[in-house]
Amino acid sequence: MTHHVRVRFAPSPTGYLHVGGARTALFNWLWARHTGGTFILRIEDTDRKRLVPDSLEDIQESLRWLGIEWDEGPGVGGPYGPYFQSERLELYHRYAQELLARGAAYRCYCSSERLARVREERRRRGEPPGYDRHCRFLADEERARLEAEGAPSVVRLKVPERGTTTVHDLLRGEITFENETLEDVVLLKSDGYPTYHLAVVVDDHLMEISHVMRADEWISSFPLHALIYRALGWELPTFVHLPMILDPTGKGKLSKRKQKRADGHVEENMTMVREFREAGYLPEALFNFIATLGWAYSGDREVFGVDEAIARFELEAIRKAPAVFSYEKLEWMNGVYIRALPAEELARRLVPFMARAGIEVTAEALLPLIPLVQERLKTLADAPAYLDFFFRDAEVPPPELLVHKKMDVESTLRALKAARDALAEVEWTEEAIESRLRQLAGELGLKAGQLFQPIRVATTGKRVAPPLFGTLYHLGRERVLARVDRAIELLETALSQQE
Ligand code: GLU
Repeated sequence: MTHHVRVRFAPSPTGYLHVGGARTALFNWLWARHTGGTFILRIEDTDRKRLVPDSLEDIQESLRWLGIEWDEGPGVGGPYGPYFQSERLELYHRYAQELLARGAAYRCYCSSERLARVREERRRRGEPPGYDRHCRFLADEERARLEAEGAPSVVRLKVPERGTTTVHDLLRGEITFENETLEDVVLLKSDGYPTYHLAVVVDDHLMEISHVMRADEWISSFPLHALIYRALGWELPTFVHLPMILDPTGKGKLSKRKQKRADGHVEENMTMVREFREAGYLPEALFNFIATLGWAYSGDREVFGVDEAIARFELEAIRKAPAVFSYEKLEWMNGVYIRALPAEELARRLVPFMARAGIEVTAEALLPLIPLVQERLKTLADAPAYLDFFFRDAEVPPPELLVHKKMDVESTLRALKAARDALAEVEWTEEAIESRLRQLAGELGLKAGQLFQPIRVATTGKRVAPPLFGTLYHLGRERVLARVDRAIELLETALSQQE
């Protein structure tokens, strides 16, 4: 008996990687890394009707982006392959045969019409959905006749009619199910593909999986799996069903629906890893955040690195209680990670986000601007809105935007003209620009904001922009003067129209 930890993430390529799936992958991976074990990626692609073409690529890319590399699986191979269930059909047939031979399964010849009828009748009688076990009790002659006719069939699990099945989950302890409530589920379909129930047991056993860590939605299938293990005479691995992930309200399972955020705005919940990536979350921040969904690094620290998580991760510390997915917390955490990046690295990571906004710029060109925005960015995708006016002409501001509180067109015009003269002469350093403009505000009898706001709007096209003096300095005198001139013209036109 080996004590080597072997764990797996077993996604079905039926959709893009969800954060819930990423959490499952991450916990398995942490456990493997913590113990020096092996992390396996296995693709459960037996439900042929539900396959989504590029989901396989998305799952792999999203895992890699998060830094979750697998030791065995697609692309890397390994001694327990193939790692695609669709390439393991023979194995499932062999064990389905074995279950039949041991009397733990039976062939069912029911047509889909009959099954639909049974479902409908059960529904009408208020019974739980399920199969009525018709073929379990077929007379031998009847069975022989159907076989001779070559009637299509599925293989079903023969669940004990009475008694209970008890299973053990590491976090929840023993869970006992009344066998009456369990269904004779299909193990092998008529198309020759196994169902999840058969394939998962066969593969976890043959791949020598030591710990099955999976979503808690599988708890209800757990007794069926236990019955299959026992029927085949196999030892069960350790099972750990991970806590559910709830949406920010804490009332429902995390899903795509629209919800109100703490600051009041309504947004569709992001759920796919690729959406967070596109929205400008750092993989290290998402990794950290996901690791806190059902596990805590310590009582008082929420921000921790990969190596720290690996060092501390323990299965017993996983919580049973559902975890709430807080977008605010993730955003906050992302800001923490953005602020911690070296400026060169942040510049490099911003390049694709600038490009997406139509601004082709190199990391070198962004680097001097990083100090202006690093403190303010919540996501990488925020950057173009802060920085676009450095790389293309600022939007022409509507005159009202130029006029600050307790100012009018006339006084703003006077202030801007004075600012223009000052900016034309001042020594071009951040400090000199700042002290000259502050001094000018005093000379004009204006509050700082009353002078600074029109300059900001004139040069950036926005009311909210990075710190003013650094912005002016990096824009350069020439562009600053040209944009101030344009604002002056705008105000002059507005004034003449007023008269
Ligand atoms: N293929 C299953 C899923 O995607 C895997 C469940 C398991 O880990 O056993 O949910």
